[in-house]
Order: sequence, then C-alpha cells, then structure tokens
Amino acid sequence: DNQKATIIKEQRQSLPAYAAKDDVVDFIRDNQVTIIIGETGSGKTTQLAQYLLDAGLAHIAKSSGSVEKKMIGCTQPRRVAAMSVAKRVCEERQVKLGEEVGYSVRFDDKTSSTKTLIKYMTEGILLREILADPLLNDYSCIIMDEAHERSLNTDILLGLFKGLLCKRRDLKLVVTSATMNADRFTKFFGAAPQFKIPGRTFPVQIYFNKNVSMDYVETSVKQILSIHLGNSMGNEGCFVNDGDILVFMTGQEDIEITCDLLREKLDMLENPPPLDILPIYSTMPQHLQKKIFRKKSATRRKVVIATNIAETSLTVDGVKYVIDCGLVKVKVYNPKLGMDTLQVVPISVANADQRSGRAGRTCAGTAYRLYTENATSAKSMYSQPIPEIQRTNLSNTMLLLKSLKVDDINTFPFLDTPPKDLLNCSLYDLWAMDALDNFGELTQLGRDMIKFPLEPTLSKLILLSTQHHFHCSEDIVTIVAMLSVANIFQRSKERANEADKSREKFTVADSDHLTLLNVYTQWELNLKKIGNNWSKMNQWCEKNFLQLKSLHRAREIKRQLVLIMQKNKLPLVKSFSDNSVRECLCAAFFQQSAKLVKTNLNGNPEFANLRHSYMKMYLHPTSTLLDSNMRSNFVIYHELILTSKEYMNYVTCVEPI
Ligand code: ADP
Ligand code: MG
Repeated sequence: DNQKATIIKEQRQSLPAYAAKDDVVDFIRDNQVTIIIGETGSGKTTQLAQYLLDAGLAHIAKSSGSVEKKMIGCTQPRRVAAMSVAKRVCEERQVKLGEEVGYSVRFDDKTSSTKTLIKYMTEGILLREILADPLLNDYSCIIMDEAHERSLNTDILLGLFKGLLCKRRDLKLVVTSATMNADRFTKFFGAAPQFKIPGRTFPVQIYFNKNVSMDYVETSVKQILSIHLGNSMGNEGCFVNDGDILVFMTGQEDIEITCDLLREKLDMLENPPPLDILPIYSTMPQHLQKKIFRKKSATRRKVVIATNIAETSLTVDGVKYVIDCGLVKVKVYNPKLGMDTLQVVPISVANADQRSGRAGRTCAGTAYRLYTENATSAKSMYSQPIPEIQRTNLSNTMLLLKSLKVDDINTFPFLDTPPKDLLNCSLYDLWAMDALDNFGELTQLGRDMIKFPLEPTLSKLILLSTQHHFHCSEDIVTIVAMLSVANIFQRSKERANEADKSREKFTVADSDHLTLLNVYTQWELNLKKIGNNWSKMNQWCEKNFLQLKSLHRAREIKRQLVLIMQKNKLPLVKSFSDNSVRECLCAAFFQQSAKLVKTNLNGNPEFANLRHSYMKMYLHPTSTLLDSNMRSNFVIYHELILTSKEYMNYVTCVEPI
C-alpha cells in the first residue's frame, strides 16, 4: 500500500496542473468566475477540486469564530465520468468513497451530508439541487467540468449561474474547457479571465483514407492489424510495444463487432504478438472500464476501442496511434416524430482535431482518419459541433425552467439560442401532455411531474397510474424502474438457444412492458425465498439468463421512486389485472403509437407511425412481439432507435391478444 501511495503521489506530481497549482488556486481565489483551459490529461478533473480543498476553500470562517463547511462541487456531462473520477480521487487521497469525497448521479448518491467536501456529480443532479435550493448554499465553489462539450444541461446551468452569481457574491464558478469553445465562455461571463495550464503536446501525423470506405469496422480492424504487426519487432525478435492504439467508434454495437472481428483475425494468425483488446462505452460494467487505465506495457500492446467518451473525458495512457471512424452517435430531435432519436452523424472538424490530438500526449504520434480529406470540407463537416440545446427535445428543460420561474424563455441568457421551432415543439409537447395550460403556465400535473427525476412521459405515466381508474401505480413504478436500466437479459452467443428458451418463461407475448414487469415480479418472489444470499441470487440469474446487476439496480431505482411517491402522498397500489397497466401505458404514450401495415416475408412486421403515417417503423430485434402472431393492429412504444431502420424499442399492443 505504501508503494502504491508513492506511485500515486509521483503520478499526481507529474501532471501539468501540479506545476501550476499555486497560481491556479490564487487565480480562482481572486476572481468570481474563471475559465481554466488545459489539454486532456493535464489534471483538471482529478486535481482542481483537490487543490481548492487543500487550499481551504471548502471551509469558511464565520464572524462568530466558528468554521462552516461548504462543498466544492464538480459537474460532469456523463454519469460514468462522475463515478470513476470520484473513485480515482478517493484512491489518490486514500479516503473512503462517500465520506470526504463522493459522487451523486441519478438514483445513486454516494455522499455524506456531514462529511463530504468534494462532490462529483452529473449536471442533471446540480440542476435538480438548484430546484431545491436556488442559491446553492451548500457550496463554496462549483467547477463545471468539460464545459466545451456543451451538453444541454451545461448550457442551462451557465444561464442560471448568470443570475445566481449576482445573488451569491461568495460563490466561485470555475469553468473548465478544452481549447475549443473557451473564448465563448469568457465572453458569456463578461470577459471572465482565462487561465491556461501550460502543457506540452507532440506533433501528430495525420493520414486520410484515399477512398470512401464502405465499412468503417472492417477498415479499422485492418488498420489496427497493420499497426500492430507492422512495427513491432525488436532486435531479438521479441515483441516491443512502440505505443498503444485508441480507436473511436460510435457505440456499444460497433465496438463489440470490432472487438469480435479483431479477435477472429488474430486467431487466424500463426504467431501474433500480444494484443489486449479493451472496449469502453458508458453502459459497460465499472470493473471492466478500469482496465483501460492500465499503464503502457513494454511487451504487450493494448488497443482501446471507445465511444466519444475517450475524446476528452477519459485519458488513456501511452496512446501513440489514433484511428478515427469520423462518426459520432448523438441525440437528435425529430420534429416529425416529436421525440429524440439516436443518430450516427459525421463529427465536426474540432472533434476530429481533438481525437487526433489524443495520439500526441506523450510522444509524436499518428492518426488515421477513416474518411477522405474531401469529407472534411465545409460542405460535409461543421467546423464546431452543434450544441445539444440546438438539436434535442427541450420539454424536460422547459418544465424545469418553468418551475424555476423563468417565465419568459426569450429573456433567458442562452449561450446559443435554441431554434424557435424546437422551443415551440417542446412547449407543444408539454401542453399536449397537460403539463402546461393554454397560457403556457405550469398545471398541477406539470408541477407534480417535476418531483420525479425522469423524462416527462415517464413522470406522467407514474402520475396517471395513481388515478383511481387506472389504479396500478405499483406495477407502473416497477416498469419505469426496469426501463431505466440497461440490459436486463443476458445475451449469450454460445448459448443463444437456451437463452431464448429461458426468456419464454417470462414472456408476455404482446407486451415488452408487461414482460419486464413479469421478470421483476418473479425475481422478487424468488428473493423472498432465498433472502439476501448473493450466491443464490447469482445462480438464479445465471440459470434464467438475467443480469443480476441490472435487476439489483432496478430494485434500487424502484425504492427511490416509491420514496418520492410516499413523500408526495401518492398511493402505491397493485393492479387487479394486466389490462389496467396496458391502458395506463397507452394513456401516457398515445403520442408514440404506430399501426401495423403488413408483415414482410421474413416475419418482421412493418408499422406506420401514427404521428406521421408515412414513416415506416419496425420492432426492435429484442421485442417479444416478434415471436408472437401479431393480431393487435395498434401498438405504443417507449423509444426509437435509428440504425439502418427506425426500430421501436419496448412495444406494447394497445389491445390484448
Ligand atoms: P483532464 O481532466 O485534464 O483531462 P484528468 O484529471 O482526467 O485530466 O486526468 C489526469 C491523469 O489522471 C491522466 O493521466 C489520467 O490517465 C489519470 N487518471 C484519471 N482517472 C484515472 C483512473 N480512474 N485510474 C487511473 N488513472 C486515472
Ligand atoms: Mg477532464
């Protein structure tokens, strides 16, 4: 342990931020708002909050002579980042997570109200804290980290801070940013001073594809192999790792395919040098994510295959080669459907440079862009990414702003104003949901919806279920909890048949929602039998091809939702029949409904969206409705996923079969 502490201490002291420590602390002390700029990996996220704590900024001497504790809050656009950074800082300080240092993300709070001094959290959590205490009196300083990513919540928080900082002159705001976008923040806060953490970067040689590549997964695997096999032999004929590889993909799916294909190709080789294949995406289990932080090894190469998460928020050590597919998956509001869909779009020039830059952190590097130089022209690529506030559904945000008494959205200080159409669509959605009245004021329903940390349709679903003619709130809360976790079912390639068979036990043929409810109910029944015995729980989940972690998390989320209901005196009742649950789902999701048009030869039924009837939609491959003989003509769906087609995810027939 002592040795580990020494290593960590040395690591911390070698970071560029360390050399600037005193200057940066003085700088923040002297200004209410500061913009801190630094290369990725310079220590902004892990070190700044610690420097401020060590310099005494979390303790305020009162005139009475006593000392008051206030927290240093640090926001992250991603929940994974908030959790992993908090854990890392605990390791560095050798403290227990949840005491001096903690994190808070939706449905998972690891902080102590009496002990915590540094709190990492998502931006969404801070927004909700502003609802509860508009002056954020528990904080002495807020670090808004990764502000250059311009997430929707970053922009809303920045706007709210403009007013808040005038009311709380003692509150410090630190905005950290990669070089891109930094000047925007400075201007926004009336010439807020910038501090640049001095750092060194090395040149990166950039190669483009000569031709447009048809399959970026295949091309990237070829590129990985050519790097790995090309320059790897030392004098003695043994492998020498000259640098690790970082690959940018769009999401879990293409990351997994890339890993599989790469393993397959390696297996075909006689004597491949050692290569560690490490995927990373946000829904991946924490303990697997940690592997990417392993130091560079001289005798094994690692290839990290990542989503955008590795662009700025995580730093992989030892990277010399970057492979960039040139695409990113983003949420885009589809006005025809009245909802957000996930779409794969080309990255911006600024993002491309940021990605390439990852290759030049420790030595001169190389970036392979899997697109042509032509593709980077102004015609095909934006110079900067489009901020989320200009492309996603703003219903949730509008609801929040309404309840913060920001009545006139037109006077809200936006860093970039959202397009009028987007605002109108979002307000229309809220009105159609009965959350706003004809004058645009919050209704009682709207005020109640805000009490839940959920998207508006799900909050409304819960509220509807408490009404006496639906009378199924216990069932609906379970369904909402299950919809809030990823991957309930284990996917097993080797034992696909068995897994499918096992699934049938839980299947309600005409409803994915009721299937989820069924899984949960059976799990709870089983828990009653076996009690809190982890190994037995595990056995049961293995046997049934279910993910214990996900079920466990759903249980925790349900517990928290029930607490909110109890606090607001909402009844928790179990339904008499599945039908009331179905009716309640339909009442909440009537805007997301579709009509069966025909069943194709391959058995995959085609639907037409009822909001825009020309739009074709299909059942997601995981839907239980695929196997059943569809007799009900109308369905509602939870969300849309756009890949090669529009897929409805979590579908329920309006009429029972
Ligand atoms: P920045 O925010 O400026 O990009 P960070 O503070 O995130 O920089 O990272 C500083 C250093 O700490 C990096 O070298 C990174 O590799 C290391 N680091 C960050 N998180 C972890 C972790 N969970 N485990 C090991 N090393 C980490
Ligand atoms: Mg960072």
